[in-house]
Amino acid sequence: MPSEKEFAGKAAIVTGGGAGIGLAVARRLAECGADVVIPDFNGPAAEAAAAQVRELGVRTLAFQADVADPARMDAVVKATVEAFGGVHILVNNAGITRDNLLLRMAPEQWDAVIRTNLTGVYVATHAVLWQMVKQRAGSIVSIASVIGLMGNPGQANYAASKGGVIAFTKSVAREVASRGIRVNAIAPGYIATAMTERVPEEARQAILKDIPIPRMGTPEDVAAAVRFLCSGEASYITGVCLRVDGGLAI
Ligand code: NDP
Repeated sequence: MPSEKEFAGKAAIVTGGGAGIGLAVARRLAECGADVVIPDFNGPAAEAAAAQVRELGVRTLAFQADVADPARMDAVVKATVEAFGGVHILVNNAGITRDNLLLRMAPEQWDAVIRTNLTGVYVATHAVLWQMVKQRAGSIVSIASVIGLMGNPGQANYAASKGGVIAFTKSVAREVASRGIRVNAIAPGYIATAMTERVPEEARQAILKDIPIPRMGTPEDVAAAVRFLCSGEASYITGVCLRVDGGLAI
């Protein structure tokens, strides 16, 4: 049986951990003993989340940071190593939507989503990878989406970014497996957060009809899968994309 404090002495970076799924992940990893670092575009949200996570008895750091800014993410990793002696877990969670039908999609909508959701995963992963190679240990989990598997009208930019994250995960998993580093992705379905609050009620009801387990997911459903993939129980698992979607993409 895994110990409840299985991540004691380990440091976890959770991008976009100021809200939603990222905050639930930060809390879950802290409950298992990890010290948690939260870089988020929304600086005050990062600070508030870090304060909340600290109450679980671990050490935390918060940063205002754009996950697609290489210099900033290198600085976040440097500060993490200085404070906690290493980086053992990276959760690439920061993500945005800028929905529009492709016929109407502006270049800015395409660029913004690819930059945060796909380039951001490259930047943060690149920033931690040397440290993990030196440690010969690490677990990277990227939050993709079922949309990256299924596609969705109005979300060609988002689907392309998340499909890219899944392909990126498989490639990097092959590159670093022999160094003791595992790289996996999670494809959440329809999870109750600020991101899905923006979906109009009619569209929400239509999506709910398509989910075999008849409810929306919670951020905690996703956090439980992240914990599993980072744990010793998953030590022979790399390069997977685990759906946490109530069966939506079956
Ligand atoms: P939220 O919008 O609730 O939270 C995302 C957090 O990331 C916010 O604090 C946001 O800050 C931050 N963020 C946005 N852009 C950046 C950036 N460039 N650098 C650093 N931080 C940033 O999203 P969710 O919790 O719903 O989503 C989390 C992840 O899960 C995303 O990758 C999303 O695509 C994915 N996902 C979500 C699903 C859902 O149903 N909710 C389903 C499938 C996947 P700010 O508020 O300032 O923008």
